[in-house]
Amino acid sequence: MKIIELKNIRKTYSAGKAAVAALQGVSLTIEQGEFLAIMGPSGSGKSTLLHLLGFLDRPDSGEYILGGKNITGLTDNQSAVLRNHLMGFVFQQFHLLPRITSLENTELPLIYAGKRHLREKAMDRIKEVGLSSRASHRPNELSGGEQQRIAIARALVNDPLIIFADEPTGNLDTKSQNEIMAVIVELNKKGKTIIMVTHEEEVAEYAKRIIRMRDGKIIADERKKIALEEKPAQPMNISVDNIVSGSRIDIKRAELADHFRQAFFSIVSHKMRALLSMLGILIGVAAVVAMLALGAGAQESIKKQLASLGSNLLMVRSGSHQLHGVALEAGAIARFTFQDVDMIAKLPGVRCASPNVSGNGQVVYANNNCNTQIQGVSVNYATMRAAIPTIGRFFTEEEVRMRARVALVGTTVVKQLFGEENPLDTYIKIKRVNFKVIGILPEKGAAGPHDQDDVVVIPITTGMYRLLGKQYIDSIDVEVSDLASMDDVQESIKELLIKRHHLATAKDSQEAFEIRNMADIKRALESTTKTVAWLLGSIAAISLLVGGIGIMNIMLVSVTERTREIGLRKAIGARESDIMVQFLIEAVVMTFAGGALGILFGSGIALLLAVLVGWTIKVSLFSVLLATSFSIIIGIIFGLWPAQQAAKLNPIEALRYE
Ligand code: ADP
Repeated sequence: MKIIELKNIRKTYSAGKAAVAALQGVSLTIEQGEFLAIMGPSGSGKSTLLHLLGFLDRPDSGEYILGGKNITGLTDNQSAVLRNHLMGFVFQQFHLLPRITSLENTELPLIYAGKRHLREKAMDRIKEVGLSSRASHRPNELSGGEQQRIAIARALVNDPLIIFADEPTGNLDTKSQNEIMAVIVELNKKGKTIIMVTHEEEVAEYAKRIIRMRDGKIIADERKKIALEEKPAQPMNISVDNIVSGSRIDIKRAELADHFRQAFFSIVSHKMRALLSMLGILIGVAAVVAMLALGAGAQESIKKQLASLGSNLLMVRSGSHQLHGVALEAGAIARFTFQDVDMIAKLPGVRCASPNVSGNGQVVYANNNCNTQIQGVSVNYATMRAAIPTIGRFFTEEEVRMRARVALVGTTVVKQLFGEENPLDTYIKIKRVNFKVIGILPEKGAAGPHDQDDVVVIPITTGMYRLLGKQYIDSIDVEVSDLASMDDVQESIKELLIKRHHLATAKDSQEAFEIRNMADIKRALESTTKTVAWLLGSIAAISLLVGGIGIMNIMLVSVTERTREIGLRKAIGARESDIMVQFLIEAVVMTFAGGALGILFGSGIALLLAVLVGWTIKVSLFSVLLATSFSIIIGIIFGLWPAQQAAKLNPIEALRYE
């Protein structure tokens, strides 16, 4: 039964200037069960013929008929599947993968075939070539003859129809040569078709048919006299039609496992190199994680502060505070009076208004003293600024009218002056004036460097006339009844103040007073955090980019180093997508590892800042997931090109790569 028919095959190589006609019209018919040796001097086209027969290369013209079916124009992927299912290859240089065991090497074609029970099938074949005791050894622990026997086991593992052997004993001593030829003869006896290239007569003697080549042509074709015993033809284990009509595109678990194992080996065997290539990703991811942790912490503390202030407040201050503290001409500053406060309180949309004065001064209790902020406020302050005391009481309208010497203290002041003592109803001296402590203010926490609890609150009148010597009010807090009318109220306050203080122009009014609302402040704070986040974000992006390029570089090196491995994998049936996925996985494993280290490193930095500088931080699951997916995506993006380079390699050229 005919298994292969070649009709007028031509192949010309155009290397350099001169074109080399390697095959010049070769026609050949091969029967199933034959043992064919191809002989001829070097350069006569033997290997080229073998590669074309084995679909490792394509002819320029001519027809290839396999099992009665013309399959001349197969795609690369179709030929890969064909090689995988119908053909086994044995090479002069064995081409075993160095980092895995004999058994794992033997399993490879099964992996690409998507078969199951790899171990058992591979082990059976290793037994068949008589090397069971060496199954768990790596190739470099085996002799040349043993390596070639493992290569034969690998060629057999998918139960192929045809075995191609390219100078199978070329690298072996005579004893090993005889052993290997015995194995091959045995295979032929069991019904395998064998096609072997050799230039040694004694090796060719094992074959039943010898064709001789010269200058790209067959010049002799001799069959041994011994009658071909009729053997039952081995059934094809896959129909050629199936292969031609469509090839498998799924990737099985065993293949993925193999890819991950290879990626792991590849990284572990070049630890330092891998670590250095990961560095960029590591730094980038660490920056992302630390940035998000600090950003989230900052957001949190801003929110807390704003909540303690109340969001429908407007603050009217005399003098512009936007001029970087440069003193203004006296005439330009609006001097607020209680009348202003009353008028503002009567404006539509205003719920209440409260005047403030502030200053600094020394506060003394017994032998302790501290310098603190002194706030003179009205009764409304308690509700407007969420300052209803937790212990004791706020002062009354009556006490404001009487300029009473009563004070509420913040928790920081309590700690500094009283320690464990109860401050209620004791007397303290503020700027040498005696005050009675009537309450403790609720704790508000720090607003950045400013401690909001380091404060003493007294009635505004006491503050102005008895303590700070002020004739005018520093600022007025205004609470609007409806958040939506904030802008309108702000506008009417402005108009009122311009009229009352006889400010001629809008520019005058800008210098004379300033109205800020909490929404503005909130927006300003948020935009600051956003700017910082963008800044850190771009640092992260740049280092991730650089890291990605580092990964791409190392992947290109890896592809070059493993060109022969890629050739071998393709020869035994890996399709382009298989090679592609293999190298993408390697890139992703590397960036993922870099990302994981980066997450640890970034959280470490954030924690360190939290402990050393006292910043609020928050490492969220979100940031960890974000960083992880970032590093995976980078692996895919920057691994893509090297993986493509690997996938596109021509199997024969790759196998010959030095
Ligand atoms: P053999 O195996 O009989 O030594 P080959 O089939 O390897 O011969 O080569 C046949 C001819 O084709 C030789 O002249 C060789 O130089 C040429 N040849 C083989 N492969 C290539 C190639 N990839 N590029 C250019 N020329 C090639």
